Amino acid sequence: MLTEDCALRLQQLNSVCFGYQSRDQSNAMHIRTRIVHFRDTLADAPDAAFEYLSDAILSVEQGTIRRLEAAESAFDKGLDATGVIDMRHLLTLPGFIDSHVHASQQNIIAAFGEQLMDWLNAYTFPEETRFAELDYAEQETERFMEALLAHGTTTALIFCTSFKHSVSLLFEQALKRNMRVIAGKVLMDRNAPQALLDKSHGIADTQALIERYHGKKRLGYAITPRFAGTSTREQLCAAGDLAEQYPDVWIQTHLSENKAEVAWTNGLFTEAKDYLDIYQRAGLLKNERSVFAHGIHLSDDELKRLAASKSSIAFCPSSNLFLGSGLLDLQRLRHFGVQYSIASDVGAGTSLCQFRSMADAYKVCQMTGYTLSAREAYYRTTLGAAKALGLSDYIGNLSPGKEADFVMINPARNTHIANRIEHVNSIDEELFVYMTMGDERLIEQTYIAGVPMYSNPQQLPPKGVLTRS
Ligand SMILES: [Zn+2]
Repeated sequence: MLTEDCALRLQQLNSVCFGYQSRDQSNAMHIRTRIVHFRDTLADAPDAAFEYLSDAILSVEQGTIRRLEAAESAFDKGLDATGVIDMRHLLTLPGFIDSHVHASQQNIIAAFGEQLMDWLNAYTFPEETRFAELDYAEQETERFMEALLAHGTTTALIFCTSFKHSVSLLFEQALKRNMRVIAGKVLMDRNAPQALLDKSHGIADTQALIERYHGKKRLGYAITPRFAGTSTREQLCAAGDLAEQYPDVWIQTHLSENKAEVAWTNGLFTEAKDYLDIYQRAGLLKNERSVFAHGIHLSDDELKRLAASKSSIAFCPSSNLFLGSGLLDLQRLRHFGVQYSIASDVGAGTSLCQFRSMADAYKVCQMTGYTLSAREAYYRTTLGAAKALGLSDYIGNLSPGKEADFVMINPARNTHIANRIEHVNSIDEELFVYMTMGDERLIEQTYIAGVPMYSNPQQLPPKGVLTRS
């Protein structure tokens, strides 16, 4: 049963968002809520940038955040309390950013028993082949976009498949929801099933998609070689040429994920001094718009070159544990000044939920002698991820001027968690409980550009009754 109080507030909030009431003369929406986010700072400093407001007003107008300040101060300045929606029982965060995820792999999450190379052959390639069929691709793409929102993810850097239409379908779905999404067609012209190879048309398809979608509303294109081993030198160099021709597109690929993969890949490119050099020679190691997934087994020299280029690593702990790929040593990345974000890598990762990714990140770090604080974990899935993607001017926090993508957390949705947070002594402890015990069922609503695009359809558990955890 939804409690009456909560039902009323949600009803109020929904009617506000549809514009029936509670907007002031400027047509702004004002929400009173608890807030956690990270202020804009030049340095990558989660501790210093952290901001918790236990009672704040978040004002949104025309898809943009107009005000974030303590409620008392907003009322002192004359904000009319009658037009404010009271959501103080919810904790509001910037929408999560997932910097590495595959739209085509929802149906192979939890595929049993293999490590990377065998997993690709046994599960990934057969599933991606099914995307040749338009109806299947359309149905799965829509389901993926809905799932992102239900998991509180408002922006993602996405691998589609090697079929051009899988990218068009995804971008059209993102346009419909007004989401800030970056995606790309997988380039793959060898070492995969024939049906997935794009020998004659991969680069032309990529260029056509860039021309059609890159910069359209909130969309961005990412040039997407799957990884070095499934592209020829010629294709990688042609991808690099495209990156030169369109300098503001993103580049995404996989790098140094699994030891067998590293050895095999280096054997295919004997002219390169190491794995990163394969991409570097092709012109694919560029700037903060180059995002490399994994990077577990890199040498010091590779890390130095990554840092110098300002490219980033998408740390995918759930995937790395699931496929047994290895434990990323964040201390080394930090030592060399390499930017990184925390990502799901579904479907080798087992959940789209960034609470789950943060939980796995914490455990991987425990195994490598590094204590990942809650502040850093949330930073690497919000503002830090936006910085790693070169998008922090638009998204990543709730500062005035930013696009109003945010997520509201309701601890009452899990009575174990609701009980547990009665025993915390700080907001840091509370955040750590959510990332350790929580999942997508905590998400009450997800907002895209100020519009609620997802509302939790489940009834709230009655107080005092334990939910499954
Ligand atoms: Zn991946």
